[in-house]
Amino acid sequence: MANAIRTEYELGIALDALWSDISNDCAQCTDPDCKGYVWLTKGDKVRFIDNGIPFIRANGIHGPCFIDSYRRTATGVLDPAVRSPDCPHRLSTGLCTIHANRPLPCRMYPLSLEVLGTGEAFWVLHTNCAHVRRLTGGGGLQPLIEKIGQLLDSLAPKLTQDVLGSFAKVSELSEPTLDESDIIRIRPTSVSNKRVEYLQ
Ligand code: SF4
Repeated sequence: MANAIRTEYELGIALDALWSDISNDCAQCTDPDCKGYVWLTKGDKVRFIDNGIPFIRANGIHGPCFIDSYRRTATGVLDPAVRSPDCPHRLSTGLCTIHANRPLPCRMYPLSLEVLGTGEAFWVLHTNCAHVRRLTGGGGLQPLIEKIGQLLDSLAPKLTQDVLGSFAKVSELSEPTLDESDIIRIRPTSVSNKRVEYLQ
């Protein structure tokens, strides 16, 4: 249904429904996960503030926000040189301590927004996810791609604009590092990579 999803809250519910049968695959997956710098949407940021969950803002007041996974140097300065730090909210059991408040990128995975080597941004599906691998083996990949397409079609323009706006700020800071053999391009977005400067 066109524009049925109008808020980040509704998008979270739709994503939970999309991935409703992912948990068994996650439980058996031994791939490293919950690493790197997870970005926040506007809604994530408000929820983090309301719940006292720390986050980091890069590049000043209008810059992108991330889960505070940053290491500190001996003098307490943020050290963004670590490429793929562990998320501080992941327990050794694999459980997420902020599951109900986890950011949109966590809720979306194995769907994500990525800037590719060409500088173009896409909604992509990560085919190296155990859940996607199982669906692919059982003939479930095409139905999944169709469901994702329907979900994206259901996003109200303002919501799409807000999510892409948050992602665009992140893409300005990041260099593409994705192995593009591990993704399926679902559809392009209007965001492109205009890399500016690294974390202040
Ligand atoms: S917030 Fe939770 S789901 Fe997201 S990366 Fe951290 S531990 Fe994983």
